[in-house]
Amino acid sequence: MNFEVVIGLEVHAQLSTESKMFCACSSDYQEAEPNTVVCPVCMGMPGVLPVINRRAVEHVIRTGLALGCEISSYTKFDRKNYPYPDLMKGYQISQYDLPIASNGSMPIEVDGVRRSAGITRVHLEEDVAKLMHRTEEFGEGYSLLDVNRAGVPLMEVVGEPDLRSPEEARAYLVQLHSILHVRPVGQVELGTKVEIKNMNSYRSVFRALEYEAERQIEVVRSGRRIVQETRGWDEEESVTFSQRIKEGASDYRYFPEPDLPPLRISPEWVTEVQASIPELPHTRKNRFVHQLGLPEYDAGLLTASQSTADYFEAVLTAAPSGPDLSGQFAKAISNWMLGEMARLLNQSGQHISDVRIEPAQVAELQTMVDDSTLSSTMAKTVFEKMFETGLPPRKIAEFEGLVQISDTDAVQTAVLEAIAANPDPVQDYLAGKQQAMGFLVGQVMKATRGKANPRMASQMVREHLEAMR
Ligand SMILES: [Zn+2]
Repeated sequence: MNFEVVIGLEVHAQLSTESKMFCACSSDYQEAEPNTVVCPVCMGMPGVLPVINRRAVEHVIRTGLALGCEISSYTKFDRKNYPYPDLMKGYQISQYDLPIASNGSMPIEVDGVRRSAGITRVHLEEDVAKLMHRTEEFGEGYSLLDVNRAGVPLMEVVGEPDLRSPEEARAYLVQLHSILHVRPVGQVELGTKVEIKNMNSYRSVFRALEYEAERQIEVVRSGRRIVQETRGWDEEESVTFSQRIKEGASDYRYFPEPDLPPLRISPEWVTEVQASIPELPHTRKNRFVHQLGLPEYDAGLLTASQSTADYFEAVLTAAPSGPDLSGQFAKAISNWMLGEMARLLNQSGQHISDVRIEPAQVAELQTMVDDSTLSSTMAKTVFEKMFETGLPPRKIAEFEGLVQISDTDAVQTAVLEAIAANPDPVQDYLAGKQQAMGFLVGQVMKATRGKANPRMASQMVREHLEAMR
């Protein structure tokens, strides 16, 4: 009997708003002392009222739009009830039957095969407090509670069970991650931080899914039944283990949150949020391939990070004689970005946003290669110095004595090529027609785009012709 793997993922992403979901506490709790970023609302004191964070709602609308979802004009919050020490109020404010966004899809690609994975819904909820379990050496275990995280806005992206292999699940997560990290136009910090519950890397997710697929096939083969449950991933043992038999929705006794009014999302608000969404990574990748003629591989790497893609496009726009969108220039700049730039960033542990080189300087450097002022080897040396100093390429080339006009080898090559390609003028010269030499020197100047020293060029042409007598 053959089995097909069916995977649907639920991904939680913490939203980087300034304040928490329902109170004025700061969302920036990571570095804070435990239980210092709290107030009566997020500590679940009786008699206090929550207030909806508008920015958090906008983040979810934006994500929903980016995932091609419908945005509900009427949505509400619900109480999800369950007793656990990390829940200060005894319930979590979440969204049950009317999520902000639903019915979307996301393109994924595995081994060159493109498919679309359905997105069931995107909803908003609040994060819970953090429990830390400690064990005394000779005593009993105990738990510590840090409320700082309670009430931080959390977005949940629920995917359809459309994924058919751990590879597809990984592609889904990478793609979702790149969409969630797209910053709204004009915003400097990252939009969201993705947290994969209990699994700290794509690799863990991948291995857990592989393990789970095999385990379930074994269970079915042996004639047993698969129970609906929540399983955890043990990184060290590389196994999943049962944590609790899964509660159905009815176990949570969801009911509409009585302390919050229903939320109406006007078409104007949706339009406004839509306008703040920059081009998405996969759309941008396609544009790089079709508009600029870049190979898929280059386009994929460049658009994997928004700042890298932004920098790359800034270089094209800053070309010395106006924006250059030709395939040749784009490929040359892509080579700089994925080659020397990536290498030097990696080596120095810097991010593209720290780079001292102005995009216009990279464009200038490439034009110096194109017009033969610099050989490609020289250009690499210049690039490295630009990376270190932030100085313009021309200044570095002059200072280092790297300008090609004094490079006799390059002129020599052009002279030999001109002689080889023009046997008739060569014969004319050897037969006594002095002016034929002028034509050959002209060919050398043309081949070097006027950058060869004319005197050096004619001297070399004469030497070579005389040597042929
Ligand atoms: Zn608070």
